[in-house]
Amino acid sequence: MSEKTIALVTGANKGIGYEIAAGLAAVGMTVGVGARDPRRGEEAVARLRANGADAFLVPLDVTDDESVAAAAKLFEERFGHLDVLVNNAAVAGQWPTAPSATTPELLEVVMDTNVKGVIRVTNALLPLLRRSARARIVNQSSHLASMALQTSPDPAYGDVDGVYTPSKAFLNALTVQYANELTGIKVNASCPGYVATEFNDFQGHETPANGAKIAIELATLPDDGPTGGLFDSAGTVPW
Ligand code: NAP
Repeated sequence: MSEKTIALVTGANKGIGYEIAAGLAAVGMTVGVGARDPRRGEEAVARLRANGADAFLVPLDVTDDESVAAAAKLFEERFGHLDVLVNNAAVAGQWPTAPSATTPELLEVVMDTNVKGVIRVTNALLPLLRRSARARIVNQSSHLASMALQTSPDPAYGDVDGVYTPSKAFLNALTVQYANELTGIKVNASCPGYVATEFNDFQGHETPANGAKIAIELATLPDDGPTGGLFDSAGTVPW
């Protein structure tokens, strides 16, 4: 079994995921760059490697069982274990969609990536994570998914949406359940802030590198670090 710390970041060919991959490589990890489009993935890997990262491509569409199984096989054959999984890949759908305009079809597209994708990837890689002495799972969530913030009078959290926002709230609930089950693995959710990426037509006010910081911190938690929590770079975020 490889002694190196091995990480996988899903949806790492651009945006926050790319910066998470860069950050994990910067602390010495060997990083699998999950990308559903191999060409975009190869370009990202080339850029990371040009900056000194030990990075490699993991062709991975989180909505595709075969693709997920192939990714797990790649890690099994190459390393025999996995230490860090960052479930970052997600789609926004037609955000914001009012609950009254939400359709089962639209919900299915978003849930298939943002929730079922996380379950597919996590469960496929769990046997490899269980072989790690310091396994960490980070689920990329959002402040938008916080019920406490959504029901606060602060208009910054007042966007009404019946698809993406609930998908991330489901992910939060799932994070707690995984943490409760996987007592040997730290499982947390991260809120990157409002980050300028394609996700929001680059309207966010944070850089992707800043948005990546909390996921990197949760992926590198010490053994006495928390599990089953929701965090941003300032600390705990209320559920
Ligand atoms: P982004 O630049 O659009 O990146 C999204 C990534 O997910 C891309 O690499 C995309 O691949 C990938 N992806 C989408 N569907 C996929 C699938 N089925 N299989 C594999 N990869 C898939 O967005 P971002 O802003 O960096 O978002 C990253 C994460 O942060 C998401 O979980 C998002 O919900 C979360 N987040 C973002 C913000 C923000 O303000 N940007 C705020 C809160 C939370 P392609 O390049 O092939 O499309």
